[in-house]
Amino acid sequence: MDRFIVIHYNELGLKKGNRDYFENRLCLNINNVLENCGAERARRISGRILVRVGPDTEINEIKKRLSRVFGIAYFAEAWSSPQAVEELEKNAWSLIEGRNFGSFRIDARRADKSFPHTSVEINQRVGAYVKERSGARVDLEDAQLTCWIEVVEKYALLYVERLEGQGGLPVGTSGKVVVLLSGGIDSPVAAWRMIKRGCTAVFVHFHSFPYTNKESQEKVRQIAALLAEYQLRSKIYFIPFAEIQRHIMVDTPIETRVILYRRYMLRLAEQVAWREKVRVLVTGDSVGQVASQTIENIDVISRAVQMPILRPLIGDDKIEIVEIARRIGTYDISIQPDQDCCSLFVPKHPETKAKLTEIEASESRLDVVEAMKLAMDSAEILLQYPAAAGLSVPESAQEAKTK
Ligand code: ATP
Ligand code: MG
Repeated sequence: MDRFIVIHYNELGLKKGNRDYFENRLCLNINNVLENCGAERARRISGRILVRVGPDTEINEIKKRLSRVFGIAYFAEAWSSPQAVEELEKNAWSLIEGRNFGSFRIDARRADKSFPHTSVEINQRVGAYVKERSGARVDLEDAQLTCWIEVVEKYALLYVERLEGQGGLPVGTSGKVVVLLSGGIDSPVAAWRMIKRGCTAVFVHFHSFPYTNKESQEKVRQIAALLAEYQLRSKIYFIPFAEIQRHIMVDTPIETRVILYRRYMLRLAEQVAWREKVRVLVTGDSVGQVASQTIENIDVISRAVQMPILRPLIGDDKIEIVEIARRIGTYDISIQPDQDCCSLFVPKHPETKAKLTEIEASESRLDVVEAMKLAMDSAEILLQYPAAAGLSVPESAQEAKTK
């Protein structure tokens, strides 16, 4: 029996016209994450994806990597068998033999319709064979052990352990987004959610170095490395924000500072988006979480830019966001202390119901055109690969412009 990983996807089936495109992209993403794991290249067969693995491959590493590939509903380590029912009986038994179980079921599926037996017949034949040898009872509802049999082209695949995939859509099938990534808890989760829906995230981080230290940038780099495990590589723009902040601090009322910071951050992020040929911005806002996230302030902040701003966490409680952050591993990085650029000199009682006319009047008194240009020109760009690969490659702004 040869060893394979059989990979199933759900939602892809729904997108009829695009099915090839989605499946090919998923195959490509799987091949990319499994590079150097000793697995053969993934191929599409009978509505699933198959990866052949040799006897010496690091199977646990392969499983770990696949568990982060979006678009996979579930996957399993499977063994191939000739299609004849007698072979299925024998091979199912050799897979099960020696395991401890009081009840079991056989769950056959016939993807190759030229196979002469229906899935019910396979279940009955193989079930009777196993029952006789194990003495265990058949339980279709709540079996202690399930043996899956998938009859595909030319042979059948047998397995007893199914692993959950991440769900979502294959990364790269939903286009690119620009995510405003702070070192906090929320925006990494917002980015992860967008990546889960098939987007490639380009990150923008604003820092106040040299007025603050470089900790926030290092945190963002680590978060981007972690998210690169889901999207293969992450591009980050580090944009100096101190000079713009200085103008805002000197010339506008203290209560509206954070609102002005956010509006200028969005404007710069929009410029990055144009440069990257991206059409939407993403933030980690959730209604009412902090003063800048009241409905009124969200309205006024959003009006700084033309581009739509997606807020995937808008209706989530902090507790739900923290739960995801912990699960994906960004939480431990996010809670490291840093000097966030916006926590510098913020008021005790910030404005919670900003008025657009007043904010625009404040902005009309600011002379930040040069500072914004300088911020964009001095942005540092980094290509960050997964932490395991240990790579981060500076990309000169010049190169990025030509892309
Ligand atoms: P987070 O946990 O993501 O920092 P938050 O709850 O602290 O969010 P805010 O500080 O109001 O809320 O930030 C709202 C959103 O603005 C963030 O989720 C992020 O998308 C963006 N943002 C805030 N500060 C920065 C920054 N320094 N660089 C890039 N984006 C930022
Ligand atoms: Mg924050």
